[in-house]
This record gives sequence, structure tokens and C-alpha cells, in this order.
Amino acid sequence: MTYTATSVQPGTGVLLTAPLSGKLVPIEQVPDPVFAQKMVGDGISIDPVSQSLLAPCDGEVIQLHPSHHAITLKTANDLEVLMHIGLDTVTLRGEGFTPKVKVGDQVQMGDRLIDFDADYVALNAKSLLTQIVITNSEQVTTFIPRSGNVTAGRDPVLELAFAGTEATAPATDNHDVATSEAIVIPNPTGLHARPAAVLANLAKKYKSDIRLKYGDKKTNVRSVVGVMGLSIDKGDTVSLEATGPDAAAAIAELTEALRSGLGEAGVTPVATTTSQAAADVSAPPPRPRSDDPNLVLGVAASPGVAVGYLHRVQQQDIAVTEQSDNPAAERRRLEQAIAQAKLEIEALRAKVHGQGNPQKAAIFSAHQELLEDPELVDATMQAIDHGKSAAYAWKRTYSEQADQLARLTNELLAQRANDLRDVGGRVLRILTGVSTETTHYPENTILAAEDLTPSDMATLDRSKVVGFCTVAGGATSHVAILARSMDIPAIAGSEPRVLELSNGTPVILDGSKGTLRLHPSSDEMERVKQRLVRIKAKRERDFASKDQPAMTIDGHRMEIVANIGNVEDAKQAVALGGEGVGLLRSEFVFMERSAAPTEEEQTDIYSAVAQILGPERPLIIRTLDVGGDKPLPYLPMPHEENPFLGERGVRIGFDRPEILRTQLRAILRSSGLGNVRVMFPMIARLEEFRMAKGMLEEERQKLGVAPIPVGIMVEVPSAAVIANQFAKEADFFSVGTNDLTQYTLAMDRGHPKLAPYCDGLDPAVLSLIGMAAKAANQQGKWCGICGGIGSDPQAVPLLIGLGVKELSVSIPTIPSVKAQVRDLSYAECQRLAAQALAADTAADVRNLSPLAEE
Ligand code: PEP
Ligand code: MG
Repeated sequence: MTYTATSVQPGTGVLLTAPLSGKLVPIEQVPDPVFAQKMVGDGISIDPVSQSLLAPCDGEVIQLHPSHHAITLKTANDLEVLMHIGLDTVTLRGEGFTPKVKVGDQVQMGDRLIDFDADYVALNAKSLLTQIVITNSEQVTTFIPRSGNVTAGRDPVLELAFAGTEATAPATDNHDVATSEAIVIPNPTGLHARPAAVLANLAKKYKSDIRLKYGDKKTNVRSVVGVMGLSIDKGDTVSLEATGPDAAAAIAELTEALRSGLGEAGVTPVATTTSQAAADVSAPPPRPRSDDPNLVLGVAASPGVAVGYLHRVQQQDIAVTEQSDNPAAERRRLEQAIAQAKLEIEALRAKVHGQGNPQKAAIFSAHQELLEDPELVDATMQAIDHGKSAAYAWKRTYSEQADQLARLTNELLAQRANDLRDVGGRVLRILTGVSTETTHYPENTILAAEDLTPSDMATLDRSKVVGFCTVAGGATSHVAILARSMDIPAIAGSEPRVLELSNGTPVILDGSKGTLRLHPSSDEMERVKQRLVRIKAKRERDFASKDQPAMTIDGHRMEIVANIGNVEDAKQAVALGGEGVGLLRSEFVFMERSAAPTEEEQTDIYSAVAQILGPERPLIIRTLDVGGDKPLPYLPMPHEENPFLGERGVRIGFDRPEILRTQLRAILRSSGLGNVRVMFPMIARLEEFRMAKGMLEEERQKLGVAPIPVGIMVEVPSAAVIANQFAKEADFFSVGTNDLTQYTLAMDRGHPKLAPYCDGLDPAVLSLIGMAAKAANQQGKWCGICGGIGSDPQAVPLLIGLGVKELSVSIPTIPSVKAQVRDLSYAECQRLAAQALAADTAADVRNLSPLAEE
């Protein structure tokens, strides 16, 4: 491996030279969790004996803290090296520090960056320990810290290797240039968000700079917005060019991917020689217009009918100050606001994930991607460097890009402008400290808005808002997808006159037909209301019988329990007739916080839930299940190529046993207050279960409490395949069908395009469930379901027939699932299950006659 200290190159190692003389200290030993837990990034610390901080490598000064105690250099290959002199030195407000450079300066290894008065700092701050940290650590595959005493400007302190450095390619061979031939875009709706995201993701694994060319315009393919902004439609001809060590391979893969439609369904690749350009590009359909003044036309966005009164939603305009004379501070503010926005979106994503809807969760994943869009962030940073405030620069950049998208003739692309405005507005509110205005709507409100955002939707008060109508958007907009999953009737792309109507106008919204009837006659309103009343009556009947057991007509008893995330959920579950908790997703106790909950805090929460449920109702607490799609801000995890196949679920507990042991102690300490059980997630091998169980037993003996039942999530196919062996050692199984489906079908559960095929009713998945249930029953144990299909009315009879004893369902569905079970016959369920296991496809399973929807 070639190391270059002064001109770091992609594909080679990097050697950072000591910025100070002194003793090296592993970063994990720094007495500050932010550094020790590598939240800022991985690196090393020095206990200094010199007083001039030198550049550890060549680079540009991209950040100098106003208190002059921290500075960041960006190397030629975009590595960001932060040096932080002392701990808590920000409180010195610059006293004792003399910067020798400014933002924008180019420096060479060994140049003086900051002089400091070591005596003053040592006396007035927590520590002199100085950290050298790579803030974009994800770009680095291996950190090899040196140890011992070092001399500034001479000795190496940290060796870094990049992805792919094992390759034997010589360091000089890194500026290959490759171009593609002409590629005709086959996608029916051009390069809209999803194919653009697929392209950006494919490009991420290459180190080369890759550009997409369309006419005389070019963009970085890693920029989803940039690619969408080229407005490339079906039949358009594009080409690719790449520069870097893997240019040829990148061009080969991306050309093929573009040609074959980037995995989009219904695409027929187009030969390169023909330019079909405008020929079969369908213009967006003209907006519907009605001749009836009392009928507003739109597009059917979410089925169902709603009767109520119109309420217009006004857009919130946030004022910003244009100028700032401290670009470094403004850059930092922007970075912090983006980081905060990502956390907020993560919380929303986790919330909808918890509701078992991968399609919804994928929308928020797409929002997180938008915040990483290089063109969006770079353009804002440039404006900041030209003297604009972060808020002004951000607002202008995202609004311009959103306007650009909205103007596109391609309707799908135009609709993504709304997503950009949503995430843009979120960051802007964080930057300006303006909070979202909360409106309290009256009963039976039907919202009319220019547009709503996915975030608006995720926080909508469903008890008051019964439908909505937007002027922007269409059936494919993310808001429409959300509305469908939330069961709110909606129309989109409606005539703009809807925004001129007075608040309180009576309306009937038909989300299936895409119409809004204004001032309906009282007869009409009555008829619709009657229909809604019948549906509501069924819900009420279910609710009224919520406390009756879920016993089939032929006397087979099922246990219907709830999936919960917190104390409030536990109350609601009991109020709706839940017979216990089949899954407490304990990661919610760990999320939306800046540090892990202590043993005491966890004990309090688990005890509170146990007390709400009382001594009889079971409470199954699943140990921390993070990793994969569920990161924790304070639990940095190394970058993994395949996080769903990496350190996830119980594997995190083995890697950081103190986290798992603390949690197990908290669970055990609350166990005396109820019918508490513990369950381990992501168990793939019997050894893992034995190890986790061993840790539980050790903690139990130390605490001197009684044993509690221990079960496993069956969510990795291997666990179902050897369920016989597991059933001898586990007290119960709970099948996590969300993960079991993704691992069985090898389809990412959050993948927007694969979502329609990632069906838990696939016969392959049902077979594994059947194996788990049979093994449990044979050993006198029981098998439940806690994945999303437990609440799916089409799945319920099959799961019963397969021998599952417990369904842990989403809280609102408890009464209806119980009612459904009471209408079923166990014998019939068994017959259906046998048919389902023999079916060819998930669609065939769903079409089995008693399951087919009317
Ligand atoms: C599952 O995988 O089905 C499950 C219930 O766990 P989670 O959705 O939290 O991964
Ligand atoms: Mg799971």
C-alpha cells in the first residue's frame, strides 16, 4: 500500500503526521463521550507538550471555530480532518488561542495552524488532550492509530485506508477517464426520483467522479436532485463520463443500468441508435376542469368518501436575514441544522416503521437522501461563502431547486418538488428557530391546500381531519401514498379555485373518483353519511366487543396482544381490549435521545408498562434492536456494506455487552411487577441464543430475582429452518414477518420499488411460519406473530390455520382482529392454510376465495 503524507489520493492510504508533540492516547480513552464514542468521527488524541498546532496533512482550511480552539482541514480527496485542542475549550471564548490561518487558506503538512498558551488552557479548561478526528469517517475503511510519544511535524499518528485500498492498482493510476456511448432512456416517465436514486446509489460504490450528460448540461450522478433537474424523459439520449481509479467499471455498470431502466418495472430497453425523443413522450395530462360550479375535479389520490367542512391551509413563510459576516459559523449552523433535521426525519421514519408500513418509511428515507444531496448542500455553502446567512442561502437554494423541479413537464418529477420543500422547510425552521404553527381543526375538517408535505401528514390530527384536497400533486405523490396508508380519503391536482372557497363550506370529497362536491344538498350529505355510519357501526361493534376473547366459532382460542413502543401505547392497547403486549420495541426507549437511557430510567419505563398491564397480561420486552435501518445517534456504528446483514439486533448486544446487560438488569428488575418476558431479536444461530440467555442468567443471579420466560424473534430464515432445535431451548417464538419476509425473499423491506413484491403472504414465508409454529407446538411451547401481517385481515385466517397461537398487532386494529377471529372457524383456517402452503405465488394466496377482498 502506498502512503502519501502530503498529497493524499483516492485509493491510497493516508498518513497523518503529528500536529503536536506529546503522548498519543487512544480516542476511546478521551474523558469525553462525544469523542470517546466517536460521535464526531474516528481518530486519535494527543496529550501535548508543544504549543503550536501544525497541519497533519496538506489541505484547505474549511472551518475555524470562532473560539479558535478547533479547526478542520479538507484534503484533496475530501477527507475532513478536525483538530480540537483541549476539552471544553470552547468555553474559553478564544482566550489563549492565536489562529495563524483563516478559512479558505491552503496549507501544507507542518504549517502552523493555531498557537495556544498551554498553561492557560490547562488551568482553565477540562483537559489539554487534543483530538484529531476524521469527521467523514465513513469514507475510511481502516484506522490504524499509532501509539507512544511523537514529535510534531515528524512522526506519523494515524494511518487511514480507503475503501478498495487492498486493490493493487498503483497510486498513480487514479485518473482514468471513461465515457459511455449514447444511451436512450427507456423509463416510461424518464429519470424521475426513484431511478435517479437508484443511479445515485449505484454510483456510491465507485470512487470515480461520474457525470451524467444531457445536451449541453451535466450533473454529478450522485446528486438525485441534479439528475432529476436535467428533466430527462423517455426516449432522451444521455451519456456518462467518469474520472478516477474505477472509471471504466463505473461506466460499464451504470451504462447497463441506465439502459435497462434502473430496475424500473415495465421498461423495454431501447436501442442506442434511435433517438425517439419527443415521439412517444406523453405530455402530462391536462388538468381536469369542471363546467359545474359546484363540482371541483381532481385526481383520485386516496380512496374513500368523506363528508365535512372545508378548511384552507395557509403556507407558512419564514423571514430570514440575508447577510452574515461569519461564513465559518454559518456553515457550521447549516451542518448542525441538517444533522438535526436528519434526526427528526429519522424519528418520523421510526414512527411509521413502528406502524409496520415500509412504503411510508421509505418516503422518509428518501427525504434523508435529499439532505445528503451534494448539489443542494454545495450550492448553499457557496452562497454562505459569498456572505449570505445560512438561513438565507438554504432557503434560496432549496426553493430555487424545488421551483425548477416543479416547472418540469414530467409530472412525477414535478411532484418531488414537494418533498424538497418539505425537507427544506424543516431545516429552515431549525435554522431560524421558528416552530411549526399548530392549528386546531374542528371536527370533520376537510383540508384544502396548495400542497401538503409528508411531514404534515405524519403529524395530522386524524380525529379531526377526515379528508383533504390539494391543488398540487397527483396519485403518485408521496402525500397520496401516505394518505392511502393512513386511510384518509384524498384528491390531488384539483382545480385551484378550491383555494378561494370560504372556510366552513360544506363538501363531500370522493377520493376514489377524484371529486369534491361543493354545497351538496342535505339529502346527498345524508346518503353519504349513512354509508359512513354503516362502516363506523362495524367499527363500533368491534369496539364494543373488544374485551371478549378471540375465540373461533369452533372454540379455538387466540391471544390478541399489541405491538407498542412506550407507556402511552400500553394504556391505549389495554383500552382497546389488548390482552397484553406481544412486542415492546424497546429501541423506542433509546431513540430521540442524546445518550443511552440508564438502568434506572429503563427500569422505570418497563415497570410503568408492567403496572399498566397488571399481573396477568403478558409483557414481552424485546431487547434493543438497532442497526440496519434503525441507527442511534449516540451509538456510532462502523460503516457496513450491508447493514441489514451486519451488526444488527442482538449482535449489537454482543459487541457492546454493557448495553445489553444494563437492559437485561432493567427488565429483570421490573419483572416482579407483572407478567414480564424477554425476547431477543435477530437470532440466527443457536449459539447466539445460548449466549444471550447466558448473559440474562448471569444478571438474574446477581440480582437474585426469579427466572422469567425467554423467547426469540423468528425473523431470520435459519431460525425457522431449525425451529425444532430452538423450540427445545426457547420458551416461546414470535415471528417477525417484516424481517423474515425481507430475508427470505432477499428484498430490502424499505425498498420503494420492491415493496409490492415483499409480501409476507408469499408461500415461502408462510412455510417458514408453519415450521416455526409446528416446532413450538410439538415442544409444548407457543408461537406468535409480531410482524405487520398479524394485522392484515387476509393473513389472520392463514396464521391461525398454521398453528400460531398469538397475534401481536398494531394498536388500532386490536378490536377488529378480535372480531374477525370470532367469525372464523379453526377447521376452515387449517384448510385455507394448507391451500396457501401449496400455492405458487403470494397473489395466488391472496386470491384464495375466502381471503379475496370484495
Ligand atoms: C419484524 O421484523 O417483523 C418485527 C416485528 O420487528 P421490526 O419490525 O421492529 O424489525
Ligand atoms: Mg425485525
